[in-house]
Amino acid sequence: GAGVSGAATAAAVGDAGDAPRDSAGSRPRGPWATALEQLARASELLSLDEGMHEMLRLPRRSIEVAVPVRLDDGRVRTFSGYRVQHSLTRGPGKGGLRYHPGVTLDEVRALAMLMTWKCALVDIPFGGAKGGITCDPKTMTVPELERMTRRYASEIAPLIGPDRDIMAPDMNTGEREMAWIMDTYSTALGYTVGPSVTGKPVTVGGSPQRRGATGAGMAECVRLASDHAKLDGPVRIAVAGYGNVGRTTAELLTADPRFVLVGLSDVSGARYAPDGLPVAEIGDELDAGRDVATLSSGTPLDRDALLTCACDVLVPASVPAVLHAGNAGAISARIVVEGANGPITGEADEILTRRGVTVVPDILANAGGVIVSYFEWAQGLQAMPWTPAWVSERMVEMMRAAFAAVVAESDRRELTLRDAALCLGVQRVADAHTARGLYP
Ligand code: GLU
Repeated sequence: GAGVSGAATAAAVGDAGDAPRDSAGSRPRGPWATALEQLARASELLSLDEGMHEMLRLPRRSIEVAVPVRLDDGRVRTFSGYRVQHSLTRGPGKGGLRYHPGVTLDEVRALAMLMTWKCALVDIPFGGAKGGITCDPKTMTVPELERMTRRYASEIAPLIGPDRDIMAPDMNTGEREMAWIMDTYSTALGYTVGPSVTGKPVTVGGSPQRRGATGAGMAECVRLASDHAKLDGPVRIAVAGYGNVGRTTAELLTADPRFVLVGLSDVSGARYAPDGLPVAEIGDELDAGRDVATLSSGTPLDRDALLTCACDVLVPASVPAVLHAGNAGAISARIVVEGANGPITGEADEILTRRGVTVVPDILANAGGVIVSYFEWAQGLQAMPWTPAWVSERMVEMMRAAFAAVVAESDRRELTLRDAALCLGVQRVADAHTARGLYP
């Protein structure tokens, strides 16, 4: 089978290790170092004993596979693929699969750990996992992507499945990739296993609500956070990364005149209009194949300048670490709602907290996606679909409950929303470990 390592020693998956220091002498903190710092802080706040803290630091399984792919021109290229199952204590592993040139084992295990806290925080019966392939999907043809996806799925097949680890879309993957994975897995077993993935096409058992779920949950969080901060309308929203999540968030929010979209960006550039942008028209232009740089409305802006534009709520919804020590001091928003996973570095988080900016953390803000994934999985296991209205309403209820619990914990212990959310998630996982006991 694939190279599977169980929980390794602390030294093997420890801190940033020998990462080079910058001129100020501080270690650059990558996503894994940031994830470990977050856990260390939560463990201290919760007074977890060191044995529990160490057990929570280490992924249950980190899988690295070689993914050889025959390109259309006949050459063979081999990509690195990963699947990290950080926790399996509250249920099967759960989490997305991302395709990006910057994917590393460190990033994947950091994101897997975040999935553990996210699933625990919103109280769905999953552990946490994440997968990735280091590749540039924009330079690959569809047949090449299909061969790569199927070979990856077949390499990790012994370790995934509806009771083991359930994949979902993430950066640069979607329904198409999930269908390929489900088909590869099902073909190996000889029968169709729908709940082996979530976020699959509706025709093969996907939830019609799944594609818009992360954005719908985000929109609810922006509303709740704006209420909590008692922001008067119009609340000005800026979305950095106008993809599926960012766009859905903006479209749902601006259906209510209390919210206006003043800025948006994608890789091509940014647009800004202090009195609000025409969201429906922008949607039509993007559907017609335009990018943000070629939109007909708003003033063109540098992509990075969008992050510091005048607005009330900033929604970073694309890649990690867009808010860093270099720009966090210049953010004008009073609230940042994390649509992406890990868009704020540890240093930037400290700066924003000092400046009194409220950050609604990723594990709360973008949990709508995995909540609807849970519904899709459960419906598949029962072969019994629920109504779309039931799915949407139940998801919003769960988001509201999680938001209220995080705010209450933050008030009670005088914590940032991030620390409060982490504490709730980490405590639930620690409690599950304690209840199950240690084998043998
Ligand atoms: N990739 C999404 C996330 O980061 C969704 C995971 C899922 O639906 O399992 O939460």
